Amino acid sequence: MSVINNYKKIIENIKATCKKYNKNYENINIVAVSKQQTLDKIKSLYNSGHNCFGENKLNEANSKWETFEKGKVKLHFIGALQSKKIKEIIKIFDVIETLDTESSAKKISLLKSNNIKIPKIFIQINIGEEPQKRGVAPSDFSDFYNMCKIKYGLEISGAMSMPPMHQDPKIYFKNMFYICKKENIENISMGMSNDYQEAIIQGANNLRIGSSIFGERGK
Ligand SMILES: *Cc1c(COP(=O)(O)O)cnc(C)c1O
Repeated sequence: MSVINNYKKIIENIKATCKKYNKNYENINIVAVSKQQTLDKIKSLYNSGHNCFGENKLNEANSKWETFEKGKVKLHFIGALQSKKIKEIIKIFDVIETLDTESSAKKISLLKSNNIKIPKIFIQINIGEEPQKRGVAPSDFSDFYNMCKIKYGLEISGAMSMPPMHQDPKIYFKNMFYICKKENIENISMGMSNDYQEAIIQGANNLRIGSSIFGERGK
C-alpha cells in the first residue's frame, strides 16, 4: 500500500467514525507522525496536500524539514521535552505537545517575555501513571495548568496523552477527556495508529498517526 492510499483509507475511517458517533470531522486535526520515515514518503503525503506532521527529535526534524518551504508545514513536537533545547525547538515547531515540567514552562515564559514567538503549547499528561512515561500525573494536571497560566503567563491550548500499551485505551481516553473538559482545554491530543477511532469516540480532536500512514518505522 502506498502512503497516499493508507492516508485516504484513514480519512475514510475517521469520517465514518465521526458520522456514526456524531462528531464533527471538521474539528479533527491529523498529525502525520513522520519520525524515522523517509523523505520520499513524507514528500508524497505533503504533495498530496497534507501539511501537519509530528516529530519527536529536534535534530532529526531540523535535517528533514529544512528543505521544505517555511510556513507551509505545521510541525508538532511530540518527543520528550528538555528545557535546554526549547530555544531551538520553538524555531521550527508550531506546536509543542509535551510540556510537563516547571523548568520548561519557565524557559518558554522567559523566551516569550523577550518577544520571541512561542508555539502553541499542550501539556502532556501521564494518563496511565506509568513510571517510564513522561507527563504530569492526572491528579496534578489542574495545578500544573494553573501554574503555567498564572505564574508563567502561558496560554495552554491543549493536552496530550499516550495510554499504556497492550491495554484497552478506552478508560484512559475517557479520563483524559474528563480532565480536559474540566479545565476547558480546547485541543485533546490522543489516539495513534491502533486506537484513533476509539479516541475519536471519546472526544479526541488531535490524532497522532504514524505507522498506519507511512508503514513501519526504520532507520
Ligand atoms: C510515534 C508516536 C506516535 C505515532 O505512533 P503510531 O503508532 O506509529 O501511529 C504518536 N504519538 C507519539 C507521542 C509518538 O511518539
